[in-house]
Amino acid sequence: MKTTDKNLHGRIALFPGSFDPFTIGHDSLVKRGLTLADRVVVAVGINEKKQNYFPAEERLAVIRKLYADNPRVEVRSYQTLTTDLAHEVEADFILRGIRSVIDFEYEKTIADVNRTLTGIETVFLLAEPQYAHISSSAVRELLFFGKEVSAFLPERMKIEGTHIFLT
Ligand code: ADP
Repeated sequence: MKTTDKNLHGRIALFPGSFDPFTIGHDSLVKRGLTLADRVVVAVGINEKKQNYFPAEERLAVIRKLYADNPRVEVRSYQTLTTDLAHEVEADFILRGIRSVIDFEYEKTIADVNRTLTGIETVFLLAEPQYAHISSSAVRELLFFGKEVSAFLPERMKIEGTHIFLT
């Protein structure tokens, strides 16, 4: 039965993150992920204990709207272990981006743990050079100091205070 399901759904990539906020770097990864998988599930991690900048519902709504016309992209939230989510959505692999050796060190440990736990592989895509400096944390830092960040965000994304939306 599983084979039939796979034939129906094709290969599924799980792209988990905080997306606080979603940037053009993330968008690039989703688009490139679609060349490797039939579907990309963008999963917004919701952690009650973690202080986020933008409300989870808004982060989610923005990404949903961004890919509303693309049936190959699914957007959802999650509060579980990434490996449990991968099992739930029947992901073939986890998709993550690498911008620097710092990302590599961090990502390697998580990928090794996830593979050891469940056998799931993580596929890493190197950041496109023109986006390698873009991070959600840099966006938040600039916003904190009242700077303009639109160059880092998908075109229709707008920020007002600590709220985010898509026009
Ligand atoms: P987390 O909080 O789980 O690190 P992020 O939302 O910061 O999640 O990022 C999700 C994924 O997207 C990570 O794998 C990160 O390395 C990747 N990523 C973030 N920005 C970029 C970028 N500019 N280019 C490529 N990958 C990126």
